Amino acid sequence: MSSRILLVEDEPGLLLTLTDLLESEGYSVETATTGPSGLAKAINGAFDLILLDVMLPGKSGYDVCRELRQQGKDVAILMLTAKTQVLDKVVGLKLGADDYLAKPFDPAELLARIEALLRRVTKDGLAPVARFRFGTVMADFEKGEVLKDGAPINLAGKELQLLRYLIDHRGKVLSRDEILKDVWEYQPDIFSRTVDVHVAWLRQKIEDNPQQPKHILTVRGSGYRFSQ
Ligand code: CA
Repeated sequence: MSSRILLVEDEPGLLLTLTDLLESEGYSVETATTGPSGLAKAINGAFDLILLDVMLPGKSGYDVCRELRQQGKDVAILMLTAKTQVLDKVVGLKLGADDYLAKPFDPAELLARIEALLRRVTKDGLAPVARFRFGTVMADFEKGEVLKDGAPINLAGKELQLLRYLIDHRGKVLSRDEILKDVWEYQPDIFSRTVDVHVAWLRQKIEDNPQQPKHILTVRGSGYRFSQ
């Protein structure tokens, strides 16, 4: 599957050039031209990397980056800026950007940075989290406590383990066999309904509308995927 990149850039010429460049390299590209729309897409979409301009209408790239990190989004962020001062670089990295490239840049340099970042993300995978917020739910795995709308939810041991497993692998499609093997330590293909049953229970407890789940998603024919 090709890596998904969100490009947030307000300069029409550069937006077009970069989109062409990235698509010709086989990336799947979505674009936004303002800070607020970029932030919304980044929060709602599942991207592998965000190319984020600093000077944007509505909200600066710095603010977008900070808000994404505050919301627990750990997508790779490469900031683009016309400014070249060291100060900006420090500010950007402090706010949680992974890398930084000053305009004007060499397209080959940009592609090399993107590849390096994506390799790092793929290799490291996602960091397991001790605490994780999604929708109106706050899960604290250290305390073994899950709150929805501020009120504690009672989760059985396996439900909590399953939730944690889904969150640790968020964004990835997980087959029933994988889940069964990792969470239940069963040999696959014996009790495969177990996963579906527990997913249904979890949805009852954490989803606003369990019939139309927004977080524990069914991937037809494949398994499940957790979405923040
Ligand atoms: Ca700009």
